[in-house]
Amino acid sequence: MGRMLVAGEWVDSQSRAEMPVTNPATEEVVDTVPQATPEDVDRAVAAAKAAFADWSRTDPEERADLLRKGVERVRACREEVADLLTREQGKPTHEALAELNHLLHGLEYYADLASKLRGSYVPLPSHLGSSFGLVVRRPLGVVAAIVPWNYPLTLMGTKIGPALIAGNTVVVKPASTTPLAATRVVGLLQEAGLPPGVLNVVTGPGRVVGEYLVAHPDVVRVAFTGETATGRRVMEIAGPAFKRVTLELGGSDPVIVCSDADLEAAVRGVLVGRYWNCGQSCLAAKRVYVFEDVYDAFLGKLLEGVSRYEPGEGWVKAQRPRIRLGPLHTARQRAEVLEQMQEALARGARVAYGGRIPDGRPRGHFLEPTVLVDVPHDSRVVQEEVFGPVLPVFRVRDIDEAIRLANDSPYGLGSSIWTFNVRWIHKAIQELQAGMTWVNQVHYGYDELPFGGTKQSGFGKEHGVEAVDYYVELKSVVVGGLA
Ligand code: NDP
Repeated sequence: MGRMLVAGEWVDSQSRAEMPVTNPATEEVVDTVPQATPEDVDRAVAAAKAAFADWSRTDPEERADLLRKGVERVRACREEVADLLTREQGKPTHEALAELNHLLHGLEYYADLASKLRGSYVPLPSHLGSSFGLVVRRPLGVVAAIVPWNYPLTLMGTKIGPALIAGNTVVVKPASTTPLAATRVVGLLQEAGLPPGVLNVVTGPGRVVGEYLVAHPDVVRVAFTGETATGRRVMEIAGPAFKRVTLELGGSDPVIVCSDADLEAAVRGVLVGRYWNCGQSCLAAKRVYVFEDVYDAFLGKLLEGVSRYEPGEGWVKAQRPRIRLGPLHTARQRAEVLEQMQEALARGARVAYGGRIPDGRPRGHFLEPTVLVDVPHDSRVVQEEVFGPVLPVFRVRDIDEAIRLANDSPYGLGSSIWTFNVRWIHKAIQELQAGMTWVNQVHYGYDELPFGGTKQSGFGKEHGVEAVDYYVELKSVVVGGLA
């Protein structure tokens, strides 16, 4: 049975209650984890609070060194952690390894930043006597890091990396369906020498454990990634207490493919952008708008590419040129994607490829990679986030129509454009309502660039130097008595 890490020790829930973690490909139980009680959360927060005084004063180089040692320990167990991730989450082994590498790269990025965070010196006018100002960055205290199931490792790393190097302590709450690999990573980071209480993990249902953690009076900062509806609930709880909150929520990223695009590259980008992680990425390419003169050519190449995906268990390698497509994460997830698709089909959309549960797979939440055409723009598959391998493709007249339709969404996370026309690129950068625009590039969250949404995709940034700003307070100091 898995356990929780609190104050540097592996513990069970005080209630002894457990939750099963199941394999999305086989529906078999992989392991169980403790179902935390509010008292367990109290203990974790108390441990983080107690550790804060020393950790916030620890030499930044030492914090970085401990994090780097942790990274090395995790790297030494790469295969084991990736396999655990595949079995609890469903993603193919090569994707699990890629996620782990992304996590390690991100943690190293923040370890390298630790000693470079600095404040500023500000000259001041002398009418109140000679003085100068300083702007000092101070850590906040105990951070709650609430993580979803689609990228359980990287989305934990984007929170604990900047939080820890800035001198905060953390309580992680992984998703109930993916606590195993994340807990293992936290354990390995701890073994590398983090002082007890600096990094803790509690497992249990979001409605109980997550809400209690967000509401806890000693938690000053909430870093949340998950669904827009859950983000709203987190705000309801954290808002009245004036907690610092960042919300990385859902997305429905549009892709614009123009007449002059490199179609091979655009198709490759869209395939990875839509079908990686079985379509369960916040920044997935979820809608494609293709200029009419290249629509047929684009669609033909796209369908050829989509036909290479083969649904199957993540730990079984597909034979080239096949590409493994894992299962959806849960039965509920698949049912919702099917419902979204059905609604569009009932209103005139057509399946250009896929659209069914694959034959011969009575177990596991598999779904064929799917392409839809003739989709009404006000249908659920366009207006809602589709967290699965279903892609609607639209024909557009020109850049104005493409941008208008791209912006016709409650979400504003990512967006992309495939063209070499400088005017169209400029227009897209200026007018697409999204936190990020990729130009001739696949949708991917680089550790080096701030990432986060607008509209109902949330607010605040993860990644980059900028993310650290959300884990510090700026204190202004005036130093007088100089003359
Ligand atoms: P959820 O919102 O269901 O869950 C996210 C986390 O919040 C889980 O740990 C969950 O715990 C917890 N939680 C659930 N209810 C509450 C609550 N009331 N109070 C506090 N915590 C709670 O999201 P999913 O796990 O379904 O993740 C998928 C979503 O995440 C998608 O919408 C996706 O777009 C979004 N996402 C956004 C990203 C971004 O950067 N913008 C990146 C990646 C994903 P439990 O599992 O126990 O319910």
